Amino acid sequence: MNYDTQMLSSSEEDIDKAAELLKKGMVVGIPTETVYGLAADALNTEAVALIFKAKGRPQDNPLIVHIGELSDIYKYVTEVPENALKLADAFWPGPLTMVMPKKDIIPMVTSGGLDTVGIRFPVHPAAREIIKRSGCPLAAPSANLSGSPSPTTAMHVFKDMNGRIPAIVDGGDCAVGVESTVVSFDKDGKVRLLRPGFVSLEDIKSIVGDNNALCAKGVTEKISDGERVLSPGMKYKHYSPKANVTILCGGMDKFTGYVSAHNGEGVCSMIFDSDADGFPFEYITYGDTSEEQARRLFSVLRSIDDMGAVQVYARCPDQTGVGLAVYNRLLRAAGFEVVNL
Ligand code: AMP
Ligand code: MG
Repeated sequence: MNYDTQMLSSSEEDIDKAAELLKKGMVVGIPTETVYGLAADALNTEAVALIFKAKGRPQDNPLIVHIGELSDIYKYVTEVPENALKLADAFWPGPLTMVMPKKDIIPMVTSGGLDTVGIRFPVHPAAREIIKRSGCPLAAPSANLSGSPSPTTAMHVFKDMNGRIPAIVDGGDCAVGVESTVVSFDKDGKVRLLRPGFVSLEDIKSIVGDNNALCAKGVTEKISDGERVLSPGMKYKHYSPKANVTILCGGMDKFTGYVSAHNGEGVCSMIFDSDADGFPFEYITYGDTSEEQARRLFSVLRSIDDMGAVQVYARCPDQTGVGLAVYNRLLRAAGFEVVNL
């Protein structure tokens, strides 16, 4: 791995260059509406192995396969549950991944050794064009080094992947900012939320009915060592800045009091925009609405490293709608360290 990493634009010509690299079995950083992805031909075992190598990702953590048309699911999945079709109809193309039983054409290295595969049909125009022109389904995990915050700009990808991959396509800042919602289907057809995202549990229930969607253990609770997980990604520490992150749950007065008592060199507070006026300690803000917090979270976590912070106290986000995705990512960044004020 010693590439002279090329920055490509989203021009027709550059998208063709990216597609050519993918056809040759190379790895390319690509924009999507969620976060930037590290893409390779999902059906080419050697290309997929290069993704794991570039990221330093554990081999048992499966990759999501990105398709260019809804009907492509039938090429890669043996059985499409009725609720999957309903969700596809409502949310595809878009930030939703559905885990279903895989056909043999999907190599085990792509599915992390599982007999299921996570499929997503992205909406980002550059991502769609790259899939179309490469002519292959693209395995694409987030384009960060394993463990660090996911990239939401091409520059984030460059910082992590410079020299490790041949090219990155710049498609602007990601509109969603957190990774896709991941669901699987229970034997009785019920939808199980494995990872919250922009498509919320409430959105899913509005399509399949309140009693037909459940949240998996691990979304907001810590999975103990050795416990079986439905989704391998749940057990890994994730999204972490170098600083220690602690989530503080409670009102702003109590938050300020806690920080005052624990203040010192290298302490930084991560607060809402509307909290900032008159806040007396070092801080960074991460938005007010859940959508804004989702969009800015990873960028803020990266800035915290740039600031050289050693301890971060974060205001606890709302946990409904898209807020559940923000809370889920922040919990992992904090290694589940939460203080109830
Ligand atoms: P990333 O590619 O970094 O966005 O992570 C993808 C995540 O999706 C993995 O860490 C898993 O948690 C989940 N996932 C992908 N494929 C499957 C699958 N076949 N079964 C369960 N979870 C999956
Ligand atoms: Mg990731």
